[in-house]
Amino acid sequence: PRRIGVLTSGGDAPGMNPAVRAVVRVSIARGCVPFAIYDGYQGLVDGGRKIRQMEWKDVHSFLPSGGTNIGTARCMAFKERAGRLQAAQNLIERGIDALVVIGGDGSLTGADVFRAEWPGLVDELVQQKRIASELAQRYRHLTIVGLVGSIDNDMASTDMTIGAVSSLHRICESVDAISSTAISHSRAFVIEVMGRHCGWLALMAGICTGADWLFIPERPPVDGEWQDRMCETLRQHREMGKRKSIIIISEGAIDSDLRPIKPDDIKDLLCQRLNLDTRVTLLGHVQRGGSPCAYDRFLATVQGVEAVEAVLRANPDTPSPMIGTRENRITCEPLMAAVELTHKVSKSIAKKDFQAAMELRSPDFAD
Ligand code: ADP
Repeated sequence: PRRIGVLTSGGDAPGMNPAVRAVVRVSIARGCVPFAIYDGYQGLVDGGRKIRQMEWKDVHSFLPSGGTNIGTARCMAFKERAGRLQAAQNLIERGIDALVVIGGDGSLTGADVFRAEWPGLVDELVQQKRIASELAQRYRHLTIVGLVGSIDNDMASTDMTIGAVSSLHRICESVDAISSTAISHSRAFVIEVMGRHCGWLALMAGICTGADWLFIPERPPVDGEWQDRMCETLRQHREMGKRKSIIIISEGAIDSDLRPIKPDDIKDLLCQRLNLDTRVTLLGHVQRGGSPCAYDRFLATVQGVEAVEAVLRANPDTPSPMIGTRENRITCEPLMAAVELTHKVSKSIAKKDFQAAMELRSPDFAD
């Protein structure tokens, strides 16, 4: 039977637990042996007690639980070849021949690097006499499958990442709460939301809460005139009788010279030009925490099922897949292509080609 390791890596996201649950239980149902690798790539490098065989009951209550129960970490050692060599040894010693990585674009980049180095890593282990040469033949192929767990929804080739909708719900609840106090005091609030270099959370939160103005990385405001336009818009909204002003800033928002848009600068602008009593709120880690919403439980479950099926379908000639979703259908596309496309988005922003960045993220988003 296939022996399938599952790990969660990078920033935690609601829905990672349901994904782990699905991988473990479908593995058992399909006659495979599942292993949880604790603390992401760190557990892969450390081995020992951090790699544990999982039983059906071990993922009991994972569906409604937030964060990731098998732990996550940012692991410097895995960025070095020596660390990945140790990781390969730990996998082979446990007889694990397939790996499901649940993480963001960083984690999936790491998975892709690991994939590209295999089976060279196996040969090196044999050369260094760290594993028996008979094993080399058996472990020529490691199947790696990527599942995208990220609140940022920043992965190309998939419409929705696991955790993004839960985070959006939390942001909307928070902005609603802020709105009621804003209305009471007739105040303005500048609210910073997460998203790293992706504006999806901010854009959706802006639409869902009826924000007055929005800053996202993919569409920097037009230089020299945005301050006037923003203040004029807010002034008009006030004239129409609105007693609150809400500005949402994505943490990666930049101006057209790629300088960060800072919440305190926006606050100063609103105080000085519009004489508005303005407060800044950084929502922080509350955005990643708590129970996954129904959609994320669903997405993580069906994608987790598909991840195991992809392991069982894989043959040495098929590239490592990433499970995604497009137009409400679960997809299975080469991991390498998705990682490359995602990096292209960052490169387009760095080159100030903002329209290309928008279109690469998603054509819907660009419209
Ligand atoms: P996320 O997956 O949420 O984007 P990170 O970017 O922090 O989070 O990546 C998580 C981990 O993935 C890193 O700590 C590192 O162990 C691994 N990783 C990221 N990029 C690479 C890389 N280029 N090569 C090898 N490992 C990597």
